[in-house]
Amino acid sequence: MAAPDTSFSFTIGARLEDRHGRAGVIETPHGRIATPAFIPVGTKATVKSVLPETMKEIGAQAVLANAYHLYLQPGPDIVDEAGGLAKFMNWHGPTFTDSGGFQVMSLGVGFKKVIAMEAVDVRSDDVIAKGKERLATVDDDGVTFRSHLDGSRHRFTPEVSMGIQHGLGADIMFAFDELTTLLNTREYQEKSVRRTHEWAQRCIDEHERLTVERAHHPYQALFAVIQGAQYEDLRRKACRDLEAIRGAAGTEFDGYGIGGALEKHNLGAIVGWCCDELPEHKPRHMLGISEPEDIFVAVENGADTFDCVNPSRVARNAAIYVAEGRFNIDTRRFRRDFTPIDDSCDCYTCANYTRAYIHHLFKAKEMLASTLCTIHNERFTIRLVDRIRDSIEGGYFDEFKEETLRVWKR
Ligand SMILES: [Zn+2]
Repeated sequence: MAAPDTSFSFTIGARLEDRHGRAGVIETPHGRIATPAFIPVGTKATVKSVLPETMKEIGAQAVLANAYHLYLQPGPDIVDEAGGLAKFMNWHGPTFTDSGGFQVMSLGVGFKKVIAMEAVDVRSDDVIAKGKERLATVDDDGVTFRSHLDGSRHRFTPEVSMGIQHGLGADIMFAFDELTTLLNTREYQEKSVRRTHEWAQRCIDEHERLTVERAHHPYQALFAVIQGAQYEDLRRKACRDLEAIRGAAGTEFDGYGIGGALEKHNLGAIVGWCCDELPEHKPRHMLGISEPEDIFVAVENGADTFDCVNPSRVARNAAIYVAEGRFNIDTRRFRRDFTPIDDSCDCYTCANYTRAYIHHLFKAKEMLASTLCTIHNERFTIRLVDRIRDSIEGGYFDEFKEETLRVWKR
């Protein structure tokens, strides 16, 4: 049998002094990603309202799609038959898929956002968002849930998630993990870290099997996901234990995802604990961040890539990112503002359209409003991370961080 194509690698370039932050290059079968990199989210194999060609033009190096959504619709078999996610969506570049665990469980308990950035003081393991019914139940083997589309019952296990993600064919996949919230107790977090570890072993085993079975497909890298909430000992132990996992034929995780519940003020510390423990030569992905101050802190502490749905989600609600912070373009004061939304921005929207026009599009409920604002917000975030990369390579990261965050107001 021919050896599987393992054209996945990570090369480290410049490093920050005395910290884990670094610049590097991830090579995948569908192309390279210069890191640190922001990975825009295309949940259902599309960045909502924007053409893939436009995403390329604004500098997106990869997109991340959701296994849960693509499993329900159109189904991984169809994406596989189309030649994999990148080809199916006419992206022709690197792609990521998440495991589906986040959606299965967050939609299941009715929490929209699990990386709750606000402090919480009530701890309970059985919390459901107000007005929602429980749609998912977790046990040691997997998760049973109801589809948010039609209420039909489904079950995800580590093996099922691996099967779906191999079918989707992204270059970088994530192991199926149990998601917790900040509302969970310490006891539950411990249990969940153990469960995620057991599931990680099952993911590696199944991934190893599928990689051989599908050796005629491009190599797909698998990242483990680190849980452990805000507890330093749990995070460190989770990293060490995941690092030690091997498949029967010696398959290791190709990289790591830092996930789970965390509070904004803990972000740097948590990423730092994980990167103390994780092997230096493998890439680290931070799940679900896009605010400038969070990106700086994550990069500084060793994260290489990030994804977040926010730049496009808030764009569809008329919120615009600029160097000074965020503002809403649909407020009255922009009715006669014939300047670009951000005159320091190099995106297509800012080169060609005015605030007054975009304001009008939102008021008139025109689809183009979402397109133009998404282009700008995605470009804003991608460009910021590109400039952070330049600043690491150029040796002026601290100055760039200081200067950017001095102007930025949340
Ligand atoms: Zn712009």
